[in-house]
Amino acid sequence: MGRVTLQGVHKRYGAVTAVSDVSLEIQDQEFVVLVGPSGCGKSTTLRMVAGLEEITGGTIAIGERVVNDLPPKDRDIAMVFQNYALYQHMTVYDNLAFGLRNRKAPESRIRDEIEHAVGILGIGELLGRKPRQLSGGQQQRVALGRCIVRHPQVFLFDEPLSNLDAKLRAQMRIELKRLRERVPTTSIYVTHDQVEAMTLGDRVVVMKDGHVQQVGTPWEIYTRPSSRFVAGFIGSPAMNFVDVAVEGEGDDVWLRQAGMTIPAPAERRAALAAYVGRKVTLGVRPEHVSIADGVPGPVVEGRIDVTEQLGSELQVDVLVGDTPIIVSRIDPERALAPGQPVRLALNPARLHFFDRETEAVIP
Ligand code: ADP
Repeated sequence: MGRVTLQGVHKRYGAVTAVSDVSLEIQDQEFVVLVGPSGCGKSTTLRMVAGLEEITGGTIAIGERVVNDLPPKDRDIAMVFQNYALYQHMTVYDNLAFGLRNRKAPESRIRDEIEHAVGILGIGELLGRKPRQLSGGQQQRVALGRCIVRHPQVFLFDEPLSNLDAKLRAQMRIELKRLRERVPTTSIYVTHDQVEAMTLGDRVVVMKDGHVQQVGTPWEIYTRPSSRFVAGFIGSPAMNFVDVAVEGEGDDVWLRQAGMTIPAPAERRAALAAYVGRKVTLGVRPEHVSIADGVPGPVVEGRIDVTEQLGSELQVDVLVGDTPIIVSRIDPERALAPGQPVRLALNPARLHFFDRETEAVIP
């Protein structure tokens, strides 16, 4: 069983705490993505699972076995790095064979394993070449092949697509998803790219400053972010945030900011009533704001600042008072010009509210 369990894992480098109290249970064959900004501790976490970094505290288990003190080669893991880490003087075939030869596997088995991996990855024509004769995408496929031939309990990926251009990255994302179907293996994947996290992960672990912020399916993380940080990190264009004053009278609660007064959505009223007289941060994704000229009901008055024609959609930045609000998914044929006054409608079912001090979601 390729389950991976981290319990209260810490890593300190002198005075720097790189990873703080990380606990995670990754199921057999589950694909979990660690995502967060540079320096949040995701690579260190992965490298501790690999055995490339010692852990300062806590336990890491692979399957039933605690691996805290096991060297990397005894952990039954295979790792793919950003820089491919191929042996430059060896052919693709010998690169693929290297790990198995080290383990004294017979050449006939090595040949079978390589044939199998090459079939999955479509790199049959490359076996005689040296890595420098390969494109970045081909080198990354060879690096994946080197993992596949070993049938490890766990695949570890450290930003494997970061060196590829945007188009190839998108293509390799799809290949990785296909690979998952054909070689189902427990995987931990580190990236700073929230699109990779959303598209590849069964579950996503969002990290910040060495701490886990939220663990959930991509849909849970996107639709129910637990904090302002997660809400702002996941999603592109990013969620809009506006600090609003919470006001109330009787049972009514509304939110006010220069240019906008909106009633609190009915199901949020009780939670927001606790904030009357204070400010909260309202969050709304660009696709949940629409330009609602002529629509009756509560709207926000603004003025178009910038328009961006993306072909498939029009995206605009609207200034509401001094606050910029991005609106996406507008009909690209719609004529909108900078300076034009517009009325915005915010989908009341899709509003998020965050405590300004703790930045935690107000449930
Ligand atoms: P990420 O992968 O999220 O970019 P890392 O795990 O590489 O982040 O680093 C987490 C933190 O630990 C950072 O503040 C980084 O500067 C620090 N760190 C990483 N490796 C070392 C090291 N060998 N010595 C000292 N500090 C380190």
